[in-house]
Amino acid sequence: MELKGLKPLFSQKAIQEITKRLAEELIREYRDKNPVFVGVLKGSFIFFADLIRELKLPLEIDFIRVASYGRDTVSSGKVSILKDVELPIKGRHVLIVEDIVDTGITLKVIYNHLKEKKPASIKICALIDKRERKKIEIDLDFVGFVVEKGFIVGYGLDYDERYRYLPEIYTLEEAP
Ligand code: 5GP
Ligand code: MG
Repeated sequence: MELKGLKPLFSQKAIQEITKRLAEELIREYRDKNPVFVGVLKGSFIFFADLIRELKLPLEIDFIRVASYGRDTVSSGKVSILKDVELPIKGRHVLIVEDIVDTGITLKVIYNHLKEKKPASIKICALIDKRERKKIEIDLDFVGFVVEKGFIVGYGLDYDERYRYLPEIYTLEEAP
């Protein structure tokens, strides 16, 4: 799709291939574990749904939603939980499914929050790892694409609530 101000980055085909590859890795890891997959709202919802459709595995699904207080404050770690998981995850194998990791601060907060509930294990799957502004070293166990920089939209990811519906991934030509 040609869209003003957006540069195509990953096609539907590329996304599909990456999702299939991640699903194969996850099947190897979670076969026989009946895991709980936790999608981070809202950005990951399309990726989460596509990924789960590739997994022929018994698993349970939950969601978490966080609020970040603007870029500056995010850097100081002020991320709050708007909606917590609802399933009891104590003793369960948990996978956090995130759309994109930038500084790593949001994921670290989610990770630490879920860890307090004493799951048997907790791992992270991110569709995109953005390297440019990484502030916190956080282990991403399953990664789709790696990008250096830019502001990314489409396939669930928004800029001010726009572009989530696009089936491909783009970079904004003028980064906000
Ligand atoms: P963090 O900097 O804490 O890793 O990311 C903060 C939040 O901003 C995350 O929820 C992440 O999804 C979102 N985010 C980071 N980089 C991008 C980007 O390039 N595009 C979009 N749409 N969201 C982003
Ligand atoms: Mg997000």
